[in-house]
Amino acid sequence: MLAFVAATAKPTRLSRLIERDGPTCVWCGRDHQERALALEHVCPRSRGGVSAEENLLVSCRACHRARNSQDATSFSRERAQQGLTPRTGLLEETLEGLSRSPRRSHREYGQAEMGQIASSAS
Ligand SMILES: [Zn+2]
Repeated sequence: MLAFVAATAKPTRLSRLIERDGPTCVWCGRDHQERALALEHVCPRSRGGVSAEENLLVSCRACHRARNSQDATSFSRERAQQGLTPRTGLLEETLEGLSRSPRRSHREYGQAEMGQIASSAS
């Protein structure tokens, strides 16, 4: 899993995230080479999300484009309905973290998305 990281010369933000979470897309659950991966803002930039570690996950470029700025939980559900295996545990952990963020835009987004998860589980 770390072979992809070792092949890169200098650690980028993306390679550090890959080291943290693995080279696995959060939306489709597939492993990819680093060049096919992108930084995913869980709280989209259009909703005030910033490039802080708490708001970043790894996604493949195809999923990254497909999501655009769709909400995290609804896009995750859409991917699951398409037969893919989103990393729901990791996504929920990240949203949970955002819901406690000192940054207001992250906190409000995380809380709203956690509410979505709770209402779909009941
Ligand atoms: Zn993907």
